[in-house]
Amino acid sequence: MIDTHSHIYLPQFEEDLDEVLDRAAEAGITEIFMPAIDFSSNEQMKKLSHESIRFYEMSGLHPADVKELEDGFEQKLHDKCSNAHIYGVGETGLDYYWSTDFVAEQKESLHAHCRVAKATEKPIILHNRESTSDLLEIIEAEQDGNLTGIWHCFNGTVDEGKKAIDLGIHLGIGGVVTFKNGGVDKTVKELPLDKMVLETDAPYLSPTPKRGKRNEPSFMLFTAQKLADIFDFSLSEIIEQTNSTARKLFKI
Ligand SMILES: [Zn+2]
Repeated sequence: MIDTHSHIYLPQFEEDLDEVLDRAAEAGITEIFMPAIDFSSNEQMKKLSHESIRFYEMSGLHPADVKELEDGFEQKLHDKCSNAHIYGVGETGLDYYWSTDFVAEQKESLHAHCRVAKATEKPIILHNRESTSDLLEIIEAEQDGNLTGIWHCFNGTVDEGKKAIDLGIHLGIGGVVTFKNGGVDKTVKELPLDKMVLETDAPYLSPTPKRGKRNEPSFMLFTAQKLADIFDFSLSEIIEQTNSTARKLFKI
């Protein structure tokens, strides 16, 4: 299984990282894609290794961490993302839940990530919290046929999901699809499985029955099983389909 979104490099895993990775491998995790929080994330990502898991770095600036963009930000992002060992641009996006103080800067940062993703031909990783219409508007404005990516932890309506897919964006399906009153399961059922990839967003958003605990890649099995139940497919069919979509998107 490919975990397309995991912050496994964060301090939350420092104490027991080896055990976490062993459990991930036992659960069948073979690849982990790591979205950045900021440029320092890549230093932490380099420390990861495991005999049966491959790790892939991404580079970007999380919208909740956007304040004033430093001079030359876009050039720096472009230089980082041009490296062959960087597989995606992000995570970026919009977050109006934590603060609306820096909306203009968040939008500016998202535009910069879009331009870099197109120029480097790498997928963009989109975070969205209480900002869906602005997010889709910017993706629509930036889409010139060269933008691909993932709406990570998809949390939109059926119409928003369809619109994102029409705009070349895939849907990252994480733990919230297992939540009882979330409604994400009903939305996902109406959308095409071949545009979906699996993710954890570890250490956040643990799936049921681990809800409220620190999330880790091995828990992705619960999310995969939920998707199998929703589409009435076997677990291995779901894994095969979502893996193949992820491999195409990240060109691995
Ligand atoms: Zn994330």
